[in-house]
This record gives sequence, C-alpha cells and structure tokens, in this order.
Amino acid sequence: MEQEKSEAQVLREQLLSQRKHAAQRMSAQEQQDCNAFCETYKAFMNTCKTEREAVRFFTEQLTAQGYVPFTPGMTLHAGDKVYLNNRGKSLILATIGTAPVTDGVRLCAAHIDSPRLDLKQHPLYEDNEIGFFKTHYYGGIKKYQWTAIPLSLHGVVIRKDGTSVEIRIGEEETDPVFCITDLLPHLAGDQMKRTLAQGIKGEELNIVIGSLPFPDEKGGNDLVKLRLMQLLNEKYGITEDDLLSAELEIVPAFRAKDVGIDRSMIGAYGHDDRVCAYPAFMATLGTAEPVHTSVVILTDKEETGSDGNTGLCSSYLKYFLCDLAECFGVSGRAVMRASKCLSADVNAAFDPTFPDVVERSNCAYLNHGVCVTKFTGARGKSGTSDASAEYVGEIRRLLDAENVIWQTGELGKVDMGGGGTVAAYIANLDIDTIDIGVPVLSMHAPYELVAKTDVYAAYRAFKVFLES
Ligand code: MN
Ligand code: MN
Repeated sequence: MEQEKSEAQVLREQLLSQRKHAAQRMSAQEQQDCNAFCETYKAFMNTCKTEREAVRFFTEQLTAQGYVPFTPGMTLHAGDKVYLNNRGKSLILATIGTAPVTDGVRLCAAHIDSPRLDLKQHPLYEDNEIGFFKTHYYGGIKKYQWTAIPLSLHGVVIRKDGTSVEIRIGEEETDPVFCITDLLPHLAGDQMKRTLAQGIKGEELNIVIGSLPFPDEKGGNDLVKLRLMQLLNEKYGITEDDLLSAELEIVPAFRAKDVGIDRSMIGAYGHDDRVCAYPAFMATLGTAEPVHTSVVILTDKEETGSDGNTGLCSSYLKYFLCDLAECFGVSGRAVMRASKCLSADVNAAFDPTFPDVVERSNCAYLNHGVCVTKFTGARGKSGTSDASAEYVGEIRRLLDAENVIWQTGELGKVDMGGGGTVAAYIANLDIDTIDIGVPVLSMHAPYELVAKTDVYAAYRAFKVFLES
C-alpha cells in the first residue's frame, strides 16, 4: 500500500516548481517519434551546411508540397501556401489561415547562417611551395578551435561573364578535405604564452589547399599556386580574378552523428541555428489549414548582427507582411500589430565542466525541453526586446495545454557577457515576440552538441504555435 503523503509533500507538489528529465515525461511512442525526427534532422545537417544550401533544400521540399512563389496582389484563400526566396540566402513561407489576416499572423523566425570562415577576395597564395586560402572569420568563434580539423569548402563563384558555378568540396566520402595547421607542442613555448583569445590569430587562419608544383622547369615562381588554379579552372571554369566575385565558405567537414553510448545526443556543425530552422520548417510543412496565417522566416546574417538585405535588420520581412496584407485589402501595420512571434534561436545549455558562467536557477539544461527566454541582452538587458508577462503567460498556457516539454533560462550570469537574437528586430515591428530554442553545448564550436529530446520539443512547440 502506498504511504500517505505528508503535508509538506502535498504542498511542495502544489506550490513549488518541479523539474523532470524529458525522457521521464515522454511515452514510448513519443520517444520513437523523437528518434525518427532526429534521423531526418541529421540527414538535413549533412546536406545543408550553409545558408544557400539550406534555402535550396527547403525550396525543393516546399515546391513538392505545393507551395507557390508569392507575388504581391495575388488572390489568396485559406490553406494556400506561398513562399518568398530572398536572394537564395533567406526564405519566408506562409500558410494562409481561416481567420482574417487582421487577426495577425503566427510568426516563427530562425536563422540558417552559422559561424564559419569566409574566403577573402584575394584568397589564393603560395608560401614555400604550399598553397593556401586566406580567410576572414564570420560570426563569433574561438579561433583556436578551427585548427587541425578537417574542413570543407562551399559556395558560389560568379564568373567574369556573369555565369555562376557552385563549389562543394569535402563532403563526399571520396572528396579531399582542407585544414588549418597548428604548431607542434615541442615548439609552441612562445605560442602557449599567448592568451587563449590570441592563441590563434585571425591572420593565422590560413587554409592548406595543396603542395604540388605545375610541372614546368622554366615556369617561374608560384608553380603550386598555378597548378591549383589550373585544377580549379579545369573543374569549375574559373580564373583567379573570378574569386573576387565569390562567396566561398569554409566549414567543418564533420558529419552529424549520434553522441553517447545511449545515442541521446547529436553532434554536428551549425546546430546554431539550424536546430531551430529545421523543426520550424517541418512544423509549417505539416500545417494544413491553420486558424491564423502562419509564417516561417529562415533568415541569414544573424551571426554578424542581422545587417544586410538578407538579414532581419533589413525590411524584407516587413515588406512581405505589408504585401501579404494588401492581398486582402488591409494595411500591413494592422496585421503586424496583431501578430505574435516565436524568435527561434538556440540557448546555452548548462555545462557541468564550466558551471560558473551561469546561474543555476535560471539557465537551460540538456533534456529539459525547448528553452523559453523572456529577455536576452548584456548587462542591464541592453538590446533586448523583453517579452511582456502577458505574452509569456500566453505562450506558457499554449505549451502546457499541448504537453510540450519546455523550460526557461537565460544566457549566463548577469554581467557575465550575453548575446542577442533577432527577437528585438521583430518586436520593433510592433509584434509580440519571445525567444525560444534548443539548449546547445559548445555553442559556436566546430562541433556543437544538442539532446534529441530537446530537438523534438522544439518541433512540437513550433507546430502547436503555428497551428494556433
Ligand atoms: Mn543563433
Ligand atoms: Mn550564434
């Protein structure tokens, strides 16, 4: 017979917050669905390592699902699905709801760019018979983490005549890869005295790309460089000057894999923020006829501050919402004022090896669900949009009603540092906005870690929100 609960036990359950591991809250069926979802996520991560690759992948999928390109002034009905491809680097998808658009849209925003190394405009050089690419890092990285690991090259080159060619080297099993060298410990005495931030400097992030000279005794200097350019010309039809008009990105060549003896986690490059983008995309793909028009925006440039015409500081989202409103003969600002947004971006997961940077009552934990963050920012909440208590309450009720596993947490201790997301830019459009996302270990490292239950919780959260 079960022992009767003491008064304290009863009160504790009634009054105090309870924390429980996601696996202890999920049914066998949910755990199976979670694992199946994560298999498709890993495949996506191996296919798409850059914003351009993600947009191409999503566009192929949505075309197959009956989405059509959005054109201003088009006639739209409930259940119609439209999309806007912004320069091949960001994407907006919308499913028209049954409620009038003046009731607002349900907006879910995630970003598809990740920290990486971009090639400079004059990248190619030879030094002592080794060929290199010069890079300029993109986003916040710990530079020393990018040495001595296999790297791949992705991107596009616009030739002199205006034609373009895609490059992707280092992802197939038989492809060569690239790397950045580091000093052997035997000779690193001076380097070891540098601070960690200076351990590898920006101008030391040089990519090794070859070492064979062009076979010509009288060929002159830089025969390795010449041979490399000859190979690139044979394969891609480009010259050195064509690299001026290119966007070539160096990313880790790692594949997404299960991590742990229990396979409970996924290691991959660029979880931030494709671990929110993919679930948001899949959630909207499966939404047939929502009440409110649902909009998913998969944006670029978040890691460099959201400036530029494919980032969310530009007006492309605002213009889309205005154009959408005009299709129904109403004003854009009436739609925005009534709209609600989940700003879907990752958060830092508690790391027992580095416990001092977070405050344990207010941080995100692995396997405790998707993390809702009321405010971000640094120091005195600088740069945050800070969701209202009313909106937090609304999201809380929605997630609880649908049994979504979620937690709340902020990014580190007060005064420890901090970071921002696109939430403020969307909130500035007069839209109720709150941050939500998957907790990540080793965020911004070449290999980041997430828990599968949290990925699935994110998918469920976005789905119930977009269908509300
Ligand atoms: Mn992010
Ligand atoms: Mn980031």
